[in-house]
Amino acid sequence: MDIQMLIGSRFEKGTETEEHILNPKTGATVIDLPEASLSQVDAAVDAAEKAFKSWSQTTPGERSGYLLKIADAIEKDAAGFAALEALNCGKPINAVLNDEIPAIVDCYRFFAGAVRNLHAPAAGEYLPGHTSMIRRDPIGIVGSIAPWNYPLMMMAWKLAPAIAGGNTVVFKPSEQTPLTALKMAKLLSDILPEGVVNVILGRGESVGNALINHAKIGMVSITGDVATGKKVLQAAAKTVKRTHLELGGKAPVIVFDDADIDAVVSGIRTFGYYNAGQDCTAACRIYADAKVYDNFVADLSSAVASIRFNQADDTANEIGPLISRRQRDRVESFVARASEHKHMEITTGGKVSGDKGFFFTPTVIAGALQDDEIVRREVFGPVVSVTRFSDTDDAIAWANDSDYGLASSVWTKDIGRGMKTAAQLQYGCTWINTHFMLANEMPHGGLKQSGYGKDMSAYALEDYTAVRHVMINHG
Ligand code: NAD
Repeated sequence: MDIQMLIGSRFEKGTETEEHILNPKTGATVIDLPEASLSQVDAAVDAAEKAFKSWSQTTPGERSGYLLKIADAIEKDAAGFAALEALNCGKPINAVLNDEIPAIVDCYRFFAGAVRNLHAPAAGEYLPGHTSMIRRDPIGIVGSIAPWNYPLMMMAWKLAPAIAGGNTVVFKPSEQTPLTALKMAKLLSDILPEGVVNVILGRGESVGNALINHAKIGMVSITGDVATGKKVLQAAAKTVKRTHLELGGKAPVIVFDDADIDAVVSGIRTFGYYNAGQDCTAACRIYADAKVYDNFVADLSSAVASIRFNQADDTANEIGPLISRRQRDRVESFVARASEHKHMEITTGGKVSGDKGFFFTPTVIAGALQDDEIVRREVFGPVVSVTRFSDTDDAIAWANDSDYGLASSVWTKDIGRGMKTAAQLQYGCTWINTHFMLANEMPHGGLKQSGYGKDMSAYALEDYTAVRHVMINHG
């Protein structure tokens, strides 16, 4: 197991407080890893600064070549990466190997192509006697901070567009899930020039805080909680840093009376509970038309009761545990508070599962109302609420009535109705008759307090580069 941080070309251990890295399936400690000192954070930033001088001058074609090598190397060691991610996050091995790794490899390949195809207005004489052109140049050093729900994928979403754009990076994984980032550190140091990517470990309030406040860092990219995003904005204000924020979500799902209910049930069974619901786009807040509500709740509840988890044969598991005891307790407390209200009914699940690890039974809460906490707050666990509606305008207004604005979906056989509803939803993404599906060519990112950075797609490359105007006087 690779357990050292990468600072320039040096591999070294942190020198400060140790973090227990746990196996969420058992709760046992896998390894203790010390976090970086402030001088190690400085050294990583200095290494990125030194590397920027030459990396920023490489051609898109050269950087593309490096990204393709990274993609190939991950693909070659897919089983090793998948096993480590499954160990650190408790994910079913098949989900990592078959869903996540191919998408991660494709992310590096996508940006290898995209960086060679940046677009801008044509160079020309917009003032007589002067030729203007647009450049897209790197920003400098990017401080990248990732969450624990998809550690390797979030690393890909952050590193690929940043280094493709000619920036250098100091990357901090979540303190709870650093193992695949450390394996990536070894892979990256074998491929990239020294200092282009540096990987340091530590908690948010110490190492993360040092990074977001670092004077030499030009941009902070963070995926995490809304509260963390606000801290990044406060820190960024001091030196007017660029920020790229991917924060939480509470995705509404509108089920119209003409929807294919079997398809919706099977869709929510997958897209509401994938990764144990620890997904910012999870289909967790359902509004079902009163005409189909009762059948839908009954079918969804029995479908969700059949989700396979916590089985000895991991290849049979569809979802894993929550990431930590704290997260499991948090999910349990949301469900306990909901069950205190008479108008809500827990139709399946609702309890902690097993006596080891951090498992929680997949849960459906029916009869939820718009002002209920379970409808308004991000649970980030295997819990889906269902709310009845009789008026389409109410459903759309309730769907939009949220601090979040990341993802949403509409289910109907009438494509006109689907398109009309999608046009009224204030979300970074709306799916029609599906949910959760992403493509590296398409942007992922939110509105409102879900943040505003775009991951994936050419829009991410735009976020990680600065638009510049160069004008030549013909003289
Ligand atoms: P978190 O905000 O607690 O932590 C995210 C990262 O930020 C971690 O690396 C953490 O160490 C760091 N951090 C925490 N406090 C910090 C500080 N003061 N300064 C600098 N860094 C700090 O979030 P989490 O619990 O790891 O992840 C879950 C959250 O992430 C959920 O709210 C989820 O919705 C969100 N998320 C969003 C997306 C998206 O694309 N929008 C994707 C995945 C997760």
